[in-house]
Amino acid sequence: MHSNGSSPRFGFLIDMDGVLYRGPALIPGADRFVAGLRENDIPFLFLTNNSQRTRRDVAARLARMGVDVGEEHVFTSAMATARFLADQKPEGTAFVIGEGGLLTALHQHGYAVVDHDPDYVVVGEGRTFNLEQVEAAVRMILGGAKLIATNLDPNCPTQAGVRPGCGAMVAMLETATGVKAFSVGKPSPVMMRAARKELGLRTDETVMVGDTMETDILGGVQLGFHTVLVFSGGTKPDDLPRYTYRPETAVPSLAELADLLEANDWRPPWRPSPRAARAAVGV
Ligand SMILES: [Mg+2]
Repeated sequence: MHSNGSSPRFGFLIDMDGVLYRGPALIPGADRFVAGLRENDIPFLFLTNNSQRTRRDVAARLARMGVDVGEEHVFTSAMATARFLADQKPEGTAFVIGEGGLLTALHQHGYAVVDHDPDYVVVGEGRTFNLEQVEAAVRMILGGAKLIATNLDPNCPTQAGVRPGCGAMVAMLETATGVKAFSVGKPSPVMMRAARKELGLRTDETVMVGDTMETDILGGVQLGFHTVLVFSGGTKPDDLPRYTYRPETAVPSLAELADLLEANDWRPPWRPSPRAARAAVGV
């Protein structure tokens, strides 16, 4: 897979929403970036906190937008959550507030989805959330079930505007029970480390590309990955001074990241040192 001659091994973990696409539309240049990775045998994985869809659904959606990748290139918080739970308590039971992506992943990892006395209450993204489920979940958590969140994103951008995210629904359960959820999605190292290992890369060979400081960049910084912030999603250059941490590199979009890599023969431009690379791109 890594036939990059003598160049150092490296690969990309790439956030999807705000990086590859916005709503139903591909962000210009994203397809060229992905094509470049494929032509140059650079390993990559699309990483999403959204647990609604299965990896196959995600791959099919990307193909419709013109990014033709296999499902092995998709890693969701639903998959990370199911793997984590199967590791913690093999063949356990879960009450699920969420949709197909999460249910499928749990089933694939030997979990039974139940509505009575579960080991875990698992909360993911979805549009089927209702108060009946919340009431049931609250009673299960107070009865000893562990509260797991696929992610804590407070909201998600949609075409029509912002909608409440998984974190908002989890907050309701936390407030009602006084129990804090354990979250698996970005920026949790549970998901980000699993994704790195899936690519077979070392920490300093891994580049996280994302549009959200609180998840993509924070997680990348905490894990010691190289980090690339794109301004094609939720973060604007003016937002950066508010944060105590910063990305190693920042570019308008994947189009400019493709240019940067192309100019360097698809070798990582941020070696030999992060400091030198920051100076080179003026961040
Ligand atoms: Mg994003």
